[in-house]
Amino acid sequence: MEVAIMGAGMSGLSCAITLEKYGITPTIFEKRNSVGDRFVNAESMFSILNRPVKDCMPYISKNYHIDLRHIDKVDKFFIHSKNELGTIAGKIGYTNVRGRHESSYESQLEKQVKCNINFNSTYEYEKLCKDFEYVVLATGDGEYASHLGNYNCDLTCTIKGVTVQGEFVTSNPHVWFNYEILPKGYAWLIPFSEKEANLVIAYPDYPDNIKLDLNDMWGKFYSLVCKNLDQNFKITDNFEITRYMMGICNKPKIDNTYFVGNCFGAISPGLGFGQYTSILTGIYSAYDIFGLGTYEELTKPLLKNYKHSLVFRRFLENLTDNEFDFHVKNLDKKVIDKLIDKICSNNSSLDLLKLTTPIMRLWNDYKE
Ligand SMILES: Cc1cc2nc3c(=O)[nH]c(=O)nc-3n(C[C@H](O)[C@H](O)[C@H](O)COP(=O)(O)OP(=O)(O)OC[C@H]3O[C@@H](n4cnc5c(N)ncnc54)[C@H](O)[C@@H]3O)c2cc1C
Repeated sequence: MEVAIMGAGMSGLSCAITLEKYGITPTIFEKRNSVGDRFVNAESMFSILNRPVKDCMPYISKNYHIDLRHIDKVDKFFIHSKNELGTIAGKIGYTNVRGRHESSYESQLEKQVKCNINFNSTYEYEKLCKDFEYVVLATGDGEYASHLGNYNCDLTCTIKGVTVQGEFVTSNPHVWFNYEILPKGYAWLIPFSEKEANLVIAYPDYPDNIKLDLNDMWGKFYSLVCKNLDQNFKITDNFEITRYMMGICNKPKIDNTYFVGNCFGAISPGLGFGQYTSILTGIYSAYDIFGLGTYEELTKPLLKNYKHSLVFRRFLENLTDNEFDFHVKNLDKKVIDKLIDKICSNNSSLDLLKLTTPIMRLWNDYKE
């Protein structure tokens, strides 16, 4: 069976590992020089966003035999609104690192692949279709799916981030919602060692936001973080991404082409998490090729999760800074505190996103 995988990232490599387990050797094409040849970026995976699975990383390891070492387990997540600070405590997820880092998830996946990767590839999709029986599109964005008329883009985002040196607790990521500085956007800090972290802002490219000055927003946010965390960081690297697409393909598979990872629509628009779905879509495409299930059926829950997450995005965008303050303050109120910590923990299978979608939808209708 001749299978081409276009893109050696999270989803493409997960597909390759799974195919090889079932005796199929794919041909992988990667346009870059090496796997993960891009800026270093700390990311995280929160189990609450991937229900009904309780604890996402052991789930992947146990069920699909893909093992990934995280940087740390998240045991406290700090949420900053304009005037309040709230926390969610307990084992709620993992932090990891991406890109040009020896422990990056893609480097770890590469080590689990046996076949060679064709780097600096200029192979076009159309040519792959002619030369291979199956094509797995794993290029990390919705461009190809868009060209094929198979992608609904719900929003694009501007993202700016830096690597900073300072003092960090690796199990404690932070997120900020402050619409005075970042309208309808958010920002985060994720450490990838006790001395290094990424600090990133992201906001949707809505007409009112396009008029804003990115560097001005960045400057205000950066000063706020230094003040909130009482540190003066040293910036060692930076990156900027424009028009980062969040959307979903209409069909996960057309003829013998599979759309996986961000080509499928892995990025959940609520908070921009996409790793878990990227790994799963890679695995599921291999299952379909091998006849262990149909890709359309296997990806159905992921499609639903995307839709819930889109409602969550609109819900977040409809909140005001005062409403964020109210919710964030409540996170640490006695009874609610324990309940939220429990629901968000790796021991719960409660699908909060799914359960609250009808309520958020009502709220969105009321606000819009
Ligand atoms: C700043 C930022 C922060 C994020 N934070 C989080 C987070 O905290 N948690 C989370 O779950 N998700 C996060 N995400 C999303 C997550 O990183 C993605 O969903 C995931 O990496 C997508 O996997 P993928 O396989 O689709 O793409 P990638 O892993 O990006 O792999 C795509 C590969 O395809 C290659 N490629 C591109 N074009 C071609 C071509 N024409 N031919 C051959 N190869 C090609 C690329 O070079 C790359 O190697 C974040 C994304 C960004 C940008």
